[in-house]
Amino acid sequence: MAIDVGVFGAAGRMGRTVCEAVCADPELRLVAAVDPYHEGLDLRSVTGVDCDLHIGLDGGTLAEAGATVAVDFTVAAGARENLHWCAENGVHAVVGTTGLGEEDLTELASIFTSSNCVVAPNFAIGAVLMMRFAELAAPWFPTAEIIELHHDLKVDAPSGTAMLTAGRMAAVSSGWAPDPTVDHVVEGARGGRGPGGIPIHSVRLRGLVAHQEVLLGTTGQSLTIRHDSFDRSSYMPGVLLAVKAVGERPGLTVGLDAILGL
Ligand code: NAD
Repeated sequence: MAIDVGVFGAAGRMGRTVCEAVCADPELRLVAAVDPYHEGLDLRSVTGVDCDLHIGLDGGTLAEAGATVAVDFTVAAGARENLHWCAENGVHAVVGTTGLGEEDLTELASIFTSSNCVVAPNFAIGAVLMMRFAELAAPWFPTAEIIELHHDLKVDAPSGTAMLTAGRMAAVSSGWAPDPTVDHVVEGARGGRGPGGIPIHSVRLRGLVAHQEVLLGTTGQSLTIRHDSFDRSSYMPGVLLAVKAVGERPGLTVGLDAILGL
């Protein structure tokens, strides 16, 4: 039986891609689309997704349509409200919205008792694997650097994924070689220092989407792990996987690792 899905943020860049992906999956059915800034509009005209729905104001739209899983790609403040609604109404939630902190996660763990919630800061399966591979390799390489490359509209640096990667590498290895650089001809030439002192270099270039390389070096050899997201469709296999898995994962699940069996 198909899973009935509602999408919060349906008119946004990620939301419309999710609507499209849900509609194209025979195991899922798009039954509700919510976006307060596009309320009342025909989903087809706003997103181009060929589905006969009107965009609703809030969770009530999901309740009327009988959605059992909600997907949220909105803004942190909106997601907090939407997730409270999901928890109170027994609707499972799959959350990609960024900007939720540790306090939010603690709260989500306490409120999702009658339905479940999956929060993933990165739904690209390749990026999740890249982080896991970097974590596995870290103890075997005394030097490592991360280069993250993004489009030229990204306003923060380094990326959350780069920080998370460095954090996971630092957590499993403390044997990092000291940096011998004493003469910094140009300030910042050695990048910023992430967790464990791992250098992180941020590239911002028009035409790029989201890319990352983890370079690890030891005697006579190096290992490079690279992931590229070419467009928003790269996140959809992970989102769809989470939508299908969330009903079987009691409480709060953070990250796709557990769902991928890593
Ligand atoms: P966007 O601005 O294009 O879309 C956000 C949409 O949410 C807008 O249409 C807005 O009207 C709507 N919205 C705002 N408040 C709402 C609410 N309370 N209820 C319902 N809808 C609401 O942004 P985007 O590029 O689609 O990104 C959305 C979020 O997804 C961001 O936080 C972004 O960082 C995150 N993101 C996560 C991943 C991941 O893999 N986890 C990947 C890409 C983007």
